Amino acid sequence: MHAPAESTRKTFDADGIALPTGSFVNGQRRDGDGEALLVHRPSDGRLIASMPGARQALIDEAVAAAALAFRTSGWREASPRHRGAVMRRWADLVEAHGEELARLEAVTTTRVIAETRVRDVPVTAELLRFYGECADKFDGALYPTASSVWSIGVPEPYGVVGAISPWNVPMVLSTAKFAPAIAAGNAVVLKPSELTPFTAVRLAELAIEAGLPPGLFNVVVGTGPEAGEPLVRHPEVACVSFTGSTVTGRRIMAAAAEAGPKPVTLELGGKSPQIVFADVPDRERLADMVAAGTSRNGGQLCYCGSRLIVHESLANQLLEDVAARLKQAKAGATWDERTTLAPIVSSRQLDRVDDIVRRGAAAGAEIRLGGTRIETHGGAFYAPTIALAGQDNPLQQEEVFGPVLSVQTFREPEEAFSLAAHDTYGLAAGIHTQNITRALDAARRIEAGMVWINTYGRSTDIGTPFGGFKRSGFGKDFGAAAYLKYTRLKNVWIDMTI
Ligand code: NAD
Repeated sequence: MHAPAESTRKTFDADGIALPTGSFVNGQRRDGDGEALLVHRPSDGRLIASMPGARQALIDEAVAAAALAFRTSGWREASPRHRGAVMRRWADLVEAHGEELARLEAVTTTRVIAETRVRDVPVTAELLRFYGECADKFDGALYPTASSVWSIGVPEPYGVVGAISPWNVPMVLSTAKFAPAIAAGNAVVLKPSELTPFTAVRLAELAIEAGLPPGLFNVVVGTGPEAGEPLVRHPEVACVSFTGSTVTGRRIMAAAAEAGPKPVTLELGGKSPQIVFADVPDRERLADMVAAGTSRNGGQLCYCGSRLIVHESLANQLLEDVAARLKQAKAGATWDERTTLAPIVSSRQLDRVDDIVRRGAAAGAEIRLGGTRIETHGGAFYAPTIALAGQDNPLQQEEVFGPVLSVQTFREPEEAFSLAAHDTYGLAAGIHTQNITRALDAARRIEAGMVWINTYGRSTDIGTPFGGFKRSGFGKDFGAAAYLKYTRLKNVWIDMTI
């Protein structure tokens, strides 16, 4: 066991915000056993915390704590209504600490305060409540067999769930994993992104206050190779739930296959098309949606409609309207209420965004707007960018994860469908038309996990399933589907003749 070593964790000035540094294992803040992890805030690049990252030894300890809590805390045996009540208390505490969490998320990540207050905190509380409510809503089954034999289907938790989440919407995307898993009776070890670890640790502390047994929810803060991979490979981790890039998802699945096999669900990258037909119902609203979809969270949303496929009769006007809106986007600190263009998470990611745009331009893309970094006080900002690019251009093929809209035009509907099909990704798609037959035909034909008709990005209802097809992943987060994925079905036979 490592003694808690407060002195090795340091925080620097983060505008008066108390940063919950370290990991959280078995109900306590803990230091990792690895190299120092340095956390910078995206808005100005300032170093805000340094702490020893979690490695194998702390992962082993966290998984052992989770396994013990799963076996002995009585959580899985508790009545589902009791589990639901604890989850609801947890949600109440999130609301009671809403301003603190909203500021913590905004100061340390790319999420702007205007969104963390009205979206991230309420959605986090809503997720805890929703899955708390799920706990007593799913029946088992009685299967038809010979009348002298009963066969009963019993949904059971897996045991220890390993969850790994990304940096782009850290609090909500982490909660979307641990809330259903815990409500279903599992214990969880969560590894949030090492770039944005703080709100997860705070949520784990609030869980203890809500009455969740210590050890049932642990947060290990470390890098992917040092903390994520040992978690996936750990023999006592029974299933793995991952959100992040397609490249990492592939590695995780390979590690889980080697160490198991064990079930894995993957929420991965996207390059989602929005097809705009000539009879789009409301052009102003469409321009609002396309602009917001390009710049929101600095373009760092997996489902953003980053490939606009627009009928040639509308293209020039729509692009002018979108550009006019994007020019209004205000880059600034995430904790400033006026900021509407968030920073890119790190200078490394900013280099990636810039590199794709440059390669795209070199391969013939016409940059209509932006295409440059924005100089600010050390933050990693990129100007909202509109690029006309052919189907094979890197700007059409690669996920940028920045405020970059790639545009193509079409004449005939069939042309639009063939442009919309992507070799790699199938996360989401949008269709804008007043022709219901065409819209439904498109929804049926497009290979994507989510299709929006005459709207885009309405993922705000956490009761609906969210997740991709193809190399955008499989398995759903959000909705009842996510609760069920953390259960496995046991078939119990009873011979009534004995
Ligand atoms: P990433 O794949 O780099 O990292 C995601 C997480 O995996 C982090 O916690 C990281 O530390 C961990 N990790 C990295 N290497 C690992 C390894 N070898 N073993 C175990 N864990 C490892 O992704 P990111 O840069 O944090 O997030 C951006 C990506 O996430 C984008 O591709 C985006 O599209 C995707 N994303 C998808 C969804 C969705 O729901 N489909 C939602 C948000 C983000």
